[in-house]
Amino acid sequence: MSDKKTSAQTDVSAVVAAIDDAATENANLQNPETETNGEESNNENSVWSIRNRKRRRRIRTIAIAAVLVVLAIGIVMLVRGNRNADEEAATAVAPAILFAEACEALAANPELKTLHVREFEVSDPLIEKIKPLVGIETFIVDKGALTDQSMATIAALPKLRQLRLRLSPITDEGLAEITKCESLQFLNLPHAECGIIGVEKLLDLPNLRQLRLGSKKLTGEVATVIAKMKKLRTLHLIGVPITDEGLKQIAALPQLESLYLDDSSVTEAGWNWLFANKNHLHVHINQKHHDRDPNRHEHD
Ligand SMILES: [Zn+2]
Repeated sequence: MSDKKTSAQTDVSAVVAAIDDAATENANLQNPETETNGEESNNENSVWSIRNRKRRRRIRTIAIAAVLVVLAIGIVMLVRGNRNADEEAATAVAPAILFAEACEALAANPELKTLHVREFEVSDPLIEKIKPLVGIETFIVDKGALTDQSMATIAALPKLRQLRLRLSPITDEGLAEITKCESLQFLNLPHAECGIIGVEKLLDLPNLRQLRLGSKKLTGEVATVIAKMKKLRTLHLIGVPITDEGLKQIAALPQLESLYLDDSSVTEAGWNWLFANKNHLHVHINQKHHDRDPNRHEHD
């Protein structure tokens, strides 16, 4: 900034000098006789000279005032520019600081069991901060994306019951890591990128009772795997092309209470079968109730 200010001051001096020269020239043009007619009387000369001086002084004053205004605006803009840069830098480092603070607060108060991030973006490099949170039961990340890289650290949380990673593209590899978390009961990965191999890994989770999973890489075949998750009470599949046959397999789960399917391949015949044979289930189809659902109710 000091360099910029010095160069601004140099520019201003040059401008003042230029305006001063222009003022002199202007005065001379308006009084051409000053130079050419040296034989005029002293009185007349002195009157012209006083007028010239006054005019030059006035022009000079106006010029200096204008330059000062320009200089002031320049300095204000410079300061504001620096402040914006500082604010941007602060925003860039904020998630790491905020996440570290949240983790420290949880570590300091063992009664707090939930880490729910919704205001800033969480990324893999921040996740090592959760290592000391051995009492945490719920970890929810609604902003930012974590990858498979973070899953081993998350799965090592000994009391974790609920995990929701909203925008994280977890693959089969990440699901294999998650299965090491034996305490896990609620798993919510709406933007996963896993295949059937990864879902098969989830069979190793002994306490899984709620699964919400979205992945464009899954086919309807995954129903045969999900039908083996005997402790499931709530299942929500997003963008998985479950067929009528797959629906029957899933609906046979002994403890299932809620079944939500978004963008499935179930036909009207499939839904009719479900309402006729499994009418205890709370069923959402693309986040709504079917018109023929005997249990339909209003949602906000
Ligand atoms: Zn409902």
